[in-house]
Amino acid sequence: MGANVMGISADLQASLCAALNDDMVLTDADEMLRFCRDWHGDVTSSAVAVLRPRSTGDVSAAVRACRTLNLSIVPQGGNTGLVLGGIPDQPANQVIISLERMNAIRNIDADDFSAIVEAGCILSEIKDWVADKDMYFPLALGAQGSCRIGGNVSTNAGGINVLRYGMTRELVLGLEVVLPDGTIFNGLSTLRKDNRGIDLKQLFIGAEGTLGIVTAVSIKLTPFPDQVVTALLGLNSLDDAIKLYRRARRDCCDLMSAFEFMPPLAFVLAKEAIPDLPMPIAGDYAAYVLMEVSGSGLVDISDLMERFLGGVMEDGLVVDGVIAASQAQARNLWLFREGMNEGQAKRGSHLRTDVSVPLSRLADFVRDAEQGVSDALPDCISVSYGHVGDGNVHLNVLPPPGLSPEEAATRIYSAKTVVNAIVDSYNGSISAEHGIGRLKRVDFEKRLDPSRRALLTALKQAIDPSMVMNPGCQLNFTGTS
Ligand SMILES: Cc1cc2nc3c(=O)[nH]c(=O)nc-3n(C[C@H](O)[C@H](O)[C@H](O)COP(=O)(O)OP(=O)(O)OC[C@H]3O[C@@H](n4cnc5c(N)ncnc54)[C@H](O)[C@@H]3O)c2cc1C
Repeated sequence: MGANVMGISADLQASLCAALNDDMVLTDADEMLRFCRDWHGDVTSSAVAVLRPRSTGDVSAAVRACRTLNLSIVPQGGNTGLVLGGIPDQPANQVIISLERMNAIRNIDADDFSAIVEAGCILSEIKDWVADKDMYFPLALGAQGSCRIGGNVSTNAGGINVLRYGMTRELVLGLEVVLPDGTIFNGLSTLRKDNRGIDLKQLFIGAEGTLGIVTAVSIKLTPFPDQVVTALLGLNSLDDAIKLYRRARRDCCDLMSAFEFMPPLAFVLAKEAIPDLPMPIAGDYAAYVLMEVSGSGLVDISDLMERFLGGVMEDGLVVDGVIAASQAQARNLWLFREGMNEGQAKRGSHLRTDVSVPLSRLADFVRDAEQGVSDALPDCISVSYGHVGDGNVHLNVLPPPGLSPEEAATRIYSAKTVVNAIVDSYNGSISAEHGIGRLKRVDFEKRLDPSRRALLTALKQAIDPSMVMNPGCQLNFTGTS
């Protein structure tokens, strides 16, 4: 038997089928396509096979089979990652292990404020299941209808509620992981306090599948916030948005659950994607904030928001604003935030960044970076928005229409170089929440302190000495390209 155009050996595929339950192995190129293409459709790869286990035992068997056949493993959840961590880069000897069929809820314990879910559970489904028990899982992101909890853990996902509830790391109580030799690490505790030495689950959170395959997760729940008030506010500047954030942190008694900054261009982009979206606010402002305050129990959230906005409008920090009067109106306000992403995608390939700087310097950073881009690339447009409360900005750069793919790629590369250099000068991070994957590996390695590299390499060698797990993702541990 020979190899196909991607160099994929039919012998290897047959050996995998022989070693594992037939139902687990996909080798048909058409069936594998959705697993091998990234969310934006920018990259299409392939794999020797896609394995779809139904249980932790299946995952362990799959890992052992891959080791025997000298195949390396790319774990995959919902394939919504934005840095190519879940897409093979060496299709001829990589297998995707998709967790999508491990999607059972093992337990929801409302008295313990915890649940145990399998890695392939879709985030929005987890939120719905626990809501039925009047509980809340606070992780919230635009991809929540498709991303899976194992992927969220492996990328330490952030999203819109980080400022109140923290990143995924802070919502995980325990993990079950299949290690690179196929053994199972059972750390599925639901204890909130457990100081028995080094907390091993932390190693796998944010590891992007380089140390093992997460198969189940114990998660922290909170009471369901039955009062949620959403407001869209018009401001004179991003500086005022930062001042408003500081004030809201104090005045809203830590009940603020989202604080998103958007530029005026957000509305133009959102309308390009969703033309009949009603304009929520009259007048043009230099900066907009989408803010949400939420709570449960005896607090009156509407009163809190109204009193807060009354004060900041009187002080001139907010010029105009609208408070959603219904869930449907709140949804429409969020559609602007989500629609602006779709609008950017419609304008063609562009630079998408996910950077963070200290909150106190965020407005200066945005000004400097946008100026840097416009000096270097006068025909490109910068659009900066994001989870401002976390110091996290997506400073994206849109090349002008009508360029060839090569011309657009050159602009995108130059823009990235400009933005990253300014991030460095602010002691910021080139990846605030999306991870490193394959897309940011070179930029990450360039900035890696030698002591951190040595620790990461030692860790990889201790847990995955055969370099089976997701090689090429995060770091090039072997030193070869
Ligand atoms: C519209 C949109 C909005 C988004 N918004 C946000 C946002 O606000 N904040 C944010 O942080 N991210 C955001 N993302 C990025 C993405 O949704 C997150 O990174 C998400 O956590 C990825 O989950 P996934 O299941 O799709 O993982 P995948 O894309 O399948 O995988 C991501 C990485 O995790 C590894 N992996 C996946 N599952 C496992 C597992 N079970 N065990 C070990 N390794 C595994 C993969 O190998 C890969 O390296 C957004 C993406 C989109 C498309």
